[in-house]
Amino acid sequence: MKFEKEIEDIKNEILSELNLSSSKKEIEDIRIKYLGRKGIITQRLKDIKNLDPKVRPRHGKVLNILKSTIEEELERKGQEVPKESREEERFFDYTMPGDRRWLGHLHPLTTTMDEIVDVFVRMGFTVKYGPDVETEFYNFEALNMPKDHPSRDIQDTFYLENNLLLRTQTSPVQIRVMESRKPPVRIISPGRCYRVDNFDSSHSPVFHQIEGLYVDKNVTLSNLIGTLNTFAKAIFGESTRTKLTPHYFPFTEPSAEVHVSCPFCKEKGCTTCKHTGWIEIMGCGMVHPEVFRKVGYDPDKYTGFAFGMGIERVCMPRYGIHDMRLFFENDQRFIHQF
Ligand SMILES: [Zn+2]
Repeated sequence: MKFEKEIEDIKNEILSELNLSSSKKEIEDIRIKYLGRKGIITQRLKDIKNLDPKVRPRHGKVLNILKSTIEEELERKGQEVPKESREEERFFDYTMPGDRRWLGHLHPLTTTMDEIVDVFVRMGFTVKYGPDVETEFYNFEALNMPKDHPSRDIQDTFYLENNLLLRTQTSPVQIRVMESRKPPVRIISPGRCYRVDNFDSSHSPVFHQIEGLYVDKNVTLSNLIGTLNTFAKAIFGESTRTKLTPHYFPFTEPSAEVHVSCPFCKEKGCTTCKHTGWIEIMGCGMVHPEVFRKVGYDPDKYTGFAFGMGIERVCMPRYGIHDMRLFFENDQRFIHQF
């Protein structure tokens, strides 16, 4: 009867463990310890087949009684466990609102660029992209900036090895397009540009531009002005006026700077327009005959206009942003405002 005594001891041990348990978790641990796949009772039942055939039936019966007794006790104890202890298992509260997904957000420069592109696409322009790393020919020479031109100063341009450089403007794209096909050409080219510059509230060594080019027979300055007026009204509001003031660019003649009436103060003067009522947003002009010659267009046959603007400079007055650095710091709190 040694076996029966041993099983009786095991049973008492389990019952006292159960007695001390006070949570679903503890009860489950006891079940696993004795009745789990590698539990003590389970193991004993498996071992029966190795026993002397004479004692097998007796041992099997005793073990099976123990097993069902323990199962009953576990069940009973499970019902008995105080409610609070059972609550701790129900950590999932179905009435809680779900976690809100943190959606990505377009950068204000991207949205502004997209809107500008849209305006010109509606006017019949197609979008063209070019490489950020350029040769001196495309970035300067073809744009009527010969070797001694001040814009080629090493202090303004990031030069790389093998006569390559980071483009200082998106104009090289115009040259690449004109080289590749005959007029009419009507394109805009958005992209990043680079200049050796301070990183302060109104400068950045990397910035974004959109350039436009329209070449055909009989393209005139009034075509340019009409295009720019349409653009300004679409981006800054229907009541916006534009004003051209004479300027100099090597690749256009005549050249002008384009100002729009301040959308905030309606020309009365405010901090955004530095109390002038006007904001300078881009440069423009009629394509220089020399540029046409470089790409093999006949300047007596074709005329064209070109314009270029900094996206940051358009974006800042639109949203009342006073520090250009905010665009590049990737502070989510800034970006999520737009
Ligand atoms: Zn103003």
